[in-house]
Amino acid sequence: MRLMVVEDERAIAEDVSAALTRAGYVVDCVHDGEEAWFRGETEGYDGIVLDLGLPKMDGLTVLKRLRAAGVTIPVLVLTARGAWMERVAGIDAGADDYLPKPFHTEELVARMGAILRRSAGHTTPMLTAGQLDIDTRRMLAHFDGKPLVLTPLEFRALRYLVHHKSRVVSQGELTEHVYAHESEPDSNVIEVLVGRLRRKLGADVITTRRGYGYIVDGP
Ligand code: CA
Repeated sequence: MRLMVVEDERAIAEDVSAALTRAGYVVDCVHDGEEAWFRGETEGYDGIVLDLGLPKMDGLTVLKRLRAAGVTIPVLVLTARGAWMERVAGIDAGADDYLPKPFHTEELVARMGAILRRSAGHTTPMLTAGQLDIDTRRMLAHFDGKPLVLTPLEFRALRYLVHHKSRVVSQGELTEHVYAHESEPDSNVIEVLVGRLRRKLGADVITTRRGYGYIVDGP
């Protein structure tokens, strides 16, 4: 899943980005409000970490504009310590959760994971589809009770497909949500990736809808 981290303090942005990357997300860092607004509206992120104090356009304005434009991406706002008014304003503007600074990156990762799950209607860190179980917190996958040995890329792709089970995911969408921008591959790389997953899972878990993409059906 692809996240945007919006934070002008580079050290915090780097810490947050590193922690989210370790947790298996693809992360883009943005350092001002105008770019955050533009990218939030035009790129299909799965989630956004949004600092409120930003140059060019403050975070609250970014959030209000995104929500006014119909963007429903889950947003976790970062607020200054003790600034309860900011928290209230953030929630009012459509934030899904908030985290006061300073924070532990572990807490940020846990809260982000929770709002992503809630937005997809999942109530626990476990994703399931048929005999497939994915523990999104421990980054483990089991098929028919047996552990699967997956590369980080395979895990991200499988998690994305199961997170969106019963819906067709196009090759382009899968590419965007599992690869970092710098390393965007061509489309047959996704075919190879899905082929590798099928060898590990059996051929019938991920179905190809020719011309549309891939689907993992729910139970
Ligand atoms: Ca800031």
